[in-house]
Amino acid sequence: MRGLVRPQLEGLVEYTLRQYPHRIKLNQNENPFELPLHIKREILERVAAEPWSRYPAFVPERQIDRVAAFTGWIPGGVLLGNGSNDLLQLLFTSVLDAGRGVVISQPTFTLYKLLAQGLGAAIHEVRMRKPFAFDVDAIIGTARRTGASMIVLSSPNNPTGTQLTVEEIVQILESTESLVVLDEAYVQFAAGSAAGLLSRYDRLVVLQTFSKAMGAAGLRFGYALLAPDLAEQLNKLKLPYAVNIFTLIAAEVFMDHWHEIRGWIDTIAGERERVRQALGSLPGITVHPSAANFLLFETERKTPSEIFDALLARGILIRNVSSYPMLGRGLRVTIGTAEENNQFLTALREAL
Ligand code: PMP
Repeated sequence: MRGLVRPQLEGLVEYTLRQYPHRIKLNQNENPFELPLHIKREILERVAAEPWSRYPAFVPERQIDRVAAFTGWIPGGVLLGNGSNDLLQLLFTSVLDAGRGVVISQPTFTLYKLLAQGLGAAIHEVRMRKPFAFDVDAIIGTARRTGASMIVLSSPNNPTGTQLTVEEIVQILESTESLVVLDEAYVQFAAGSAAGLLSRYDRLVVLQTFSKAMGAAGLRFGYALLAPDLAEQLNKLKLPYAVNIFTLIAAEVFMDHWHEIRGWIDTIAGERERVRQALGSLPGITVHPSAANFLLFETERKTPSEIFDALLARGILIRNVSSYPMLGRGLRVTIGTAEENNQFLTALREAL
């Protein structure tokens, strides 16, 4: 079987997530709240009224306009995707190849490096400063020194929860010539988005998703906000009909009802601070501040695997991130409902 795929793929380790039996799921940064049934029914009724035998609109203009209004950006600069992963793949394949490079701040979402490796791009990793601040000077220095085509940044960053300030993003844009991809998957839990910079910088791409704060990970809906000229270039490689009619309609209904459901963001952010304080009072645990819907914590005494296993034995599934750069003692827990968080804290106290 050797030689059938590009050599870059042969050494790659695929992106996987092992399934473990559990009662409480706090491992994928999902929203613990479900869309109310009456809103789900509205989606189902609207989907039932559509012709399923036909392709979706080639350019789903209605939904693009809705996302533009929702985000305050222009419709010509909106690309819709089957989750933001889809758009990350589009961006990476459009920008990178074996002759080009990407700056990745580490530790971060593992898909960036995987996609870049698969394309054979040069990968320039810049470590964060500890305890977890983006090393903006090193990011800029590395991008300039290597002439990197792209800088990819998750803000708030998965898994550290760190958010770049708008000033830092401006500094990166002003001091480099790279395309800056700002993955704002968790931005609704944070102080604010940097999407306001789009009108000033045509080298900025902002990615957002319905998978986290919007509570719709199962629907697979994400979007990119960018300069219309760049959107035109990326459209050349974008697969037609990547977003199906079910998801297109559901996304619209989510936005229609956003005022009814958005309260869950404050609930989650409040819980995040409560859980952070509780974790901070536990012996041998260091917890980091987070602008997202998860917390990164480090364990001094027991190993991350021991804690992960002890929690799992009590039915609680979190994420062991100890294989990430700099996170040898690290675990990540998603903020759930108050009840789920209490059960997590009780189990952790027992596990320590
Ligand atoms: N970006 C980051 C930083 C993430 O953590 C995730 C989810 N793990 C994604 C993108 C993917 O989101 P989506 O469900 O929109 O593909």
